Amino acid sequence: MDIKSATFVGSAADYKKCPETPLPEYAFIGRSNVGKSSLINMLTNRNGLAKTSSTPGKTQVINHFMINNQWYLVDLPGYGWAKVGQAQREKFNLMIREYIQKRPNLQCVFVLVDSRHEPQKIDVEFIEWLGNAQIPFAIIFTKADKQTKTRTLANVATYNKQLKKTWAELPQEFITSSDERTGRDEVLGYIENLRLQ
Ligand code: GDP
Repeated sequence: MDIKSATFVGSAADYKKCPETPLPEYAFIGRSNVGKSSLINMLTNRNGLAKTSSTPGKTQVINHFMINNQWYLVDLPGYGWAKVGQAQREKFNLMIREYIQKRPNLQCVFVLVDSRHEPQKIDVEFIEWLGNAQIPFAIIFTKADKQTKTRTLANVATYNKQLKKTWAELPQEFITSSDERTGRDEVLGYIENLRLQ
């Protein structure tokens, strides 16, 4: 897919304030620092389109970007800030879960995980929640350039072993590096296929 245009549309504090639109949308989420902004900038070929991590404690919002006047890319706030309190964490979880469950044009949630790490509880729990809620999702393993390909594949295998404890079928998975610009065609091709279905 060629990215001909990518523009910031707006920020919303909850799903009710997201743009009213019949266009399909695809959301990206993951722990803070997982490489989400870098991935969005790589996918859209726009440096600085998605801003790198906001500071913990700041208002966290749902950002909409219009791509090719055909679909929305949605940047969901990063989860897992160690320093925010319980009340703020719950408010934040509710905002994300409501958006994911109630947004009618949401076609897929891309969950980003760092390809260097063992499965983290917060990610595994979030993925389980998505599966139980029957939300279509895919997993993106980020920062693959930071280690050998063998190491990345071994970590993906470990991840899959963990997922198979709960699910008979594995989700669609991608391995990406924003620094080396790998995995871009695969993710964009997947979005294009979903959009044309
Ligand atoms: P976000 O908090 O999830 O939006 O993460 P960012 O995109 O801001 O990335 C966090 C840090 O990881 C930054 O220092 C990035 O330069 C770095 N980073 C992100 N993606 C990659 C990648 O694919 N390869 C490498 N080597 N570094 C990356």
